Amino acid sequence: MKNLEAQIVVIAAGPSGLSAAVQAAEDGASVIVLEKAATVGGAANMGMGPLGIGTKHQKRQMIDLSVEKAFNMFMEYTHYQVDARLVKRYFEQSAETIEWLEDMGVEFEGAFRYFPKSEATWHIVKTDRAIGPRAASFMNKALYTKALELGVTFLMETPAKKILVENGKVAGVTAVSKDGEEIMISCKAAIVCTGGAGANKELIKQETGFTQGEDMFNFAIPGLVGDGMKMAWDAGAGKTTVRIEMAANIEGCDELPQGVSNVFSQPNLLVNKYGKRVMNEDQMQNATYLANVVTHQKDRICYSIVDTSILKYYIRNGVDNVSLVRTNPDVSDFYEGIKIAQDNDSEDFFVADTMEELAEKAGISVDNLIETVDTYNDYCDSVDEEFFKDKKYLRPLKKAPFYCAKVRAGGYGTVGGVKINENCEAITEDFEPVPGLYCAGTDACNIYDDSYMFLLPGNSMGFAVNTGRIAGMGAAEFVGE
Ligand SMILES: Cc1cc2nc3c(=O)[nH]c(=O)nc-3n(C[C@H](O)[C@H](O)[C@H](O)COP(=O)(O)OP(=O)(O)OC[C@H]3O[C@@H](n4cnc5c(N)ncnc54)[C@H](O)[C@@H]3O)c2cc1C
Repeated sequence: MKNLEAQIVVIAAGPSGLSAAVQAAEDGASVIVLEKAATVGGAANMGMGPLGIGTKHQKRQMIDLSVEKAFNMFMEYTHYQVDARLVKRYFEQSAETIEWLEDMGVEFEGAFRYFPKSEATWHIVKTDRAIGPRAASFMNKALYTKALELGVTFLMETPAKKILVENGKVAGVTAVSKDGEEIMISCKAAIVCTGGAGANKELIKQETGFTQGEDMFNFAIPGLVGDGMKMAWDAGAGKTTVRIEMAANIEGCDELPQGVSNVFSQPNLLVNKYGKRVMNEDQMQNATYLANVVTHQKDRICYSIVDTSILKYYIRNGVDNVSLVRTNPDVSDFYEGIKIAQDNDSEDFFVADTMEELAEKAGISVDNLIETVDTYNDYCDSVDEEFFKDKKYLRPLKKAPFYCAKVRAGGYGTVGGVKINENCEAITEDFEPVPGLYCAGTDACNIYDDSYMFLLPGNSMGFAVNTGRIAGMGAAEFVGE
């Protein structure tokens, strides 16, 4: 057994752990970071950037979004079911955090909307390439470099195993090195930042009722199996509901040209297995709303349907809605993608010469679908009496062949589990802080209630970075006392 000592042990080096380590070291604490993976950055290496409210970028872009407005919007969205003090502290700190990151060399492209109905809170990290996925890895690199400069020690491929508590206070953390050696680090504070349990099928089933691979297709990033929440609960922290941070998915698209997912994400006809419409398809651009709708249908499946006229229109003019994730309005690769899916005997996409045949192939009620399409086509000549869809998106389905894709529930991973207060202190079921125990990021992300707040994008990475800092500040103060 190897024995080490630090004032604070940060468990994991995703954006919350990195931010906690930098902040605690800036505030004068000695810090050791334990990271299970071979690289730092966690899930955020796949993302694009954190939320900021009232930042200089927004002011420069003439975006009028105050902390007050965002806070009220957020609390109403969550029906006041979440910790208002924590939300307020996070939002209030978020603009300064953007500058804190800039001071260590992170550059931002500006503040962006995820989709037109959202607010421009998403601060996308500038890279040496065009705007796109993985941009936030540059932020993680800057945080890591800063932490090293401040003297933080990183033990990579060294998962934490247990938080030791003596006389009710944190006294140490045990870990196992990549060579299998047991490590015992004496410390006064531990900050848990292990990113939830998106890859833990059993925990997801137990806590949320979803079965991964059957009715839930979330990112299951290897290593994110709930270690932190289990360690925190064992050390005395209370438990909160664990949920999936939901975003809908066109299953089977990952291997296909982007035109396929792009076409089926557009606001065309969306039905359930009974062949009935299920929402105003305008709202499909909010992937959380769409996932919520899907999970309330039989077998948790919906179907997005287009005809050949819609496809031709899209190929000629570009799709209705693009986003920073699906950036390309050009979907001329759609036919090539569908052919690949068919050649691979995909069960996620269907093509047919009649609506009857399409319904039969996809497993949708034939008679109902025919009736729904007839009614929908009538709405296209007048107004959508059923769900009030914007006229500009009403395009009839008349010209064969017809194309259909399954829409499923997905998500980024889990959120929540560890009960914290606004200082990111882990608290017992009885709301008493466990001295020396802190938690940040996804493991402690209890602020969305039942639905991820996509209307203020960058929210989960924003929460990770800001709560990491809050935990780092609190822990540094605690160990200094
Ligand atoms: C594809 C994708 C895109 C995304 N894009 C965005 C975006 O643009 N904006 C946004 O706001 N959010 C985005 N998110 C969500 C965002 O990435 C997460 O909210 C954020 O990474 C959470 O940070 P974290 O530090 O809590 O956990 P993570 O980033 O998940 O990091 C957790 C870390 O814990 C480590 N770990 C696990 N167990 C142990 C252990 N026992 N000991 C030591 N280490 C351990 C893991 O190896 C990992 O490094 C995206 C997510 C995905 C999957």
